[in-house]
Amino acid sequence: MARYTGAVCRLCRREGAKLFLKGDRCYTEKCSFSRREYAPGEAGRKRVKESEYRMQLREKQKTKRLYGLLEKQFHHYYEMASRQQGVTGENLLRILESRLDNVVYRLGFAKSRAEARQQVRHGHIYVNGRRVDIPSFRVRPGDLVSVAPKAREMLVIKSALISNERVQVPAWLEVDIEKLQGSVLSLPNRDQIDADIREQLIVELYSK
Ligand code: SF4
Repeated sequence: MARYTGAVCRLCRREGAKLFLKGDRCYTEKCSFSRREYAPGEAGRKRVKESEYRMQLREKQKTKRLYGLLEKQFHHYYEMASRQQGVTGENLLRILESRLDNVVYRLGFAKSRAEARQQVRHGHIYVNGRRVDIPSFRVRPGDLVSVAPKAREMLVIKSALISNERVQVPAWLEVDIEKLQGSVLSLPNRDQIDADIREQLIVELYSK
């Protein structure tokens, strides 16, 4: 599947927010955004006129990049969300949060969503005892997500667990670190998603 392969720190600087795309480095003083809080490129330091459209576009781009998605897939999720009952923006976030790569990251088995995606693709993650190697697989309440037996000794997972001790597992998930597994208790409500996203702006953009 196509994915963004450029420098990820540029994305944080472009969106004017820390998107935590690089794992450990994001929490250190080496973070590029902390050092240069302006957009990349020659015009990066210039003042930009805020228009309604610009705000909506940037919010959509930020969210898309936070979850590591390209436009086509993100828009597909929006369409799915708009067909569901309830508030479209919340539905969209719920769909994004229920992706398997995000759940692996939220459980602390990976330092970033990109790393979680790689673990899933490499077959290191099981759902309900079966290997699932599709990062976009959507978990449901009651699902059990675990690290494959062969991957349990992997250094990358161990170091993710250590460095992710500072990250709180959200209330809609429950993790058992000893067993390297986590349960999906429910799908998240808006207040259980700790993402700094103004989803209403995304809905406004796509509904034009
Ligand atoms: Fe963003 Fe992390 Fe790079 Fe900082 S280190 S700019 S938070 S990806």
